[in-house]
Amino acid sequence: MIYLDNNATTKPFPEVVEAMMPFMTTRYWNASSAYGQLDGLEEIVESAKSAIRSLIASESEDEVVFTSGATESNVWAIAEGERRAMGRGWVLSSQIEHPSIGEPLEALKEQSISVRYVPVTRSGTFDLDILAELVDSDLRFASLMLAHNETGVIQPIREAAKLIRERSPHCLIHSDATQAIGKVPISFTDELNQIDLISFSAHKFHGPKGIGGLVIRNGTNIVPFIRGGGQQSNLRSGTLNIPAIAGVNVAARKSLEHIKGDQIPSIQRLRDYFESRIAEIFPDSIFVGSQSQRLANTSFFGIPGADADDVVYALAAVGIALSKGSSCSAQSIMPPLTALLMELNHEEANSLLRVSLAYENSFIEVDQLIQKLVELLH
Ligand code: PLP
Repeated sequence: MIYLDNNATTKPFPEVVEAMMPFMTTRYWNASSAYGQLDGLEEIVESAKSAIRSLIASESEDEVVFTSGATESNVWAIAEGERRAMGRGWVLSSQIEHPSIGEPLEALKEQSISVRYVPVTRSGTFDLDILAELVDSDLRFASLMLAHNETGVIQPIREAAKLIRERSPHCLIHSDATQAIGKVPISFTDELNQIDLISFSAHKFHGPKGIGGLVIRNGTNIVPFIRGGGQQSNLRSGTLNIPAIAGVNVAARKSLEHIKGDQIPSIQRLRDYFESRIAEIFPDSIFVGSQSQRLANTSFFGIPGADADDVVYALAAVGIALSKGSSCSAQSIMPPLTALLMELNHEEANSLLRVSLAYENSFIEVDQLIQKLVELLH
């Protein structure tokens, strides 16, 4: 398998798997037990939290709460947004959020909470002019993503959050940073300093699946999400998933090493090589979001005339894994909504494929993909 779908999920680092194993074989204790505490399980949890804080450059007082992943974290953030907006305010988001934001937000309308969505410009970034027209002092909760899962476009979150904070100082601001964490340096204390909550999923940065978290800025009060045995300072009850937390610990540390080292520029060289070869071979090809600042690993490209569904299945049949956009839309026959919002026409949008690379990918693999695309489409 040539795996080129790393925005859907990533292969766990071998060290992650190794770090998890003891907690499923010999040290399978409940972290709340006396012997679990004596065996150092609390230290593992603290170490994982601190690894996450380092990865997002956040302060040691900021709370990291482990959840089952970004979907749960997003739903939790929105539940808090609902509480704050109920009866006296409204909620803001963007038109291009992941369904784990979009769907729960739509459900808020059933509670008579008004939800307004910022559109994107043709380059795939939030339209800050429209944002400026929308935001007023009644805004109680905003959720804006950091990097888009399909286009890879990095959003002007600093500018958006600054504007929101000026107009509505007490608005709770959340960012779904799932696609950015581990792929770009981010700083909760610097460019994200107006953000109160961020969501992440470990499997997007070579950690295990089914674990992620919500980072809560020091001083931000939010209601517990899952009530029960009182774990995680009563904020999210449930027996801690120690194997996964041990995996997060290693994944976050290794991802930070990658970000500080030369992994990201080498992934970008591979992506840029791929796009320049495709542009040479298929002169009509399009690269969505390429005018904007993008994740180094992502190419959302289209070869007009091609049918993305057919191509994805033909490539899967020969062992090349990529997707036509969000993995959630793999079963959908609709073209990616984001592309239509960016004013691509239906033919262009129907041809779009997403290649998302990781450190393990090679020029040989990318050449094999190009070769197969030529056989299928030229
Ligand atoms: N948010 C974004 C931007 C994503 O890309 C994803 C996963 O594709 C999620 C949230 C949901 O993550 P998970 O499925 O791990 O809960």
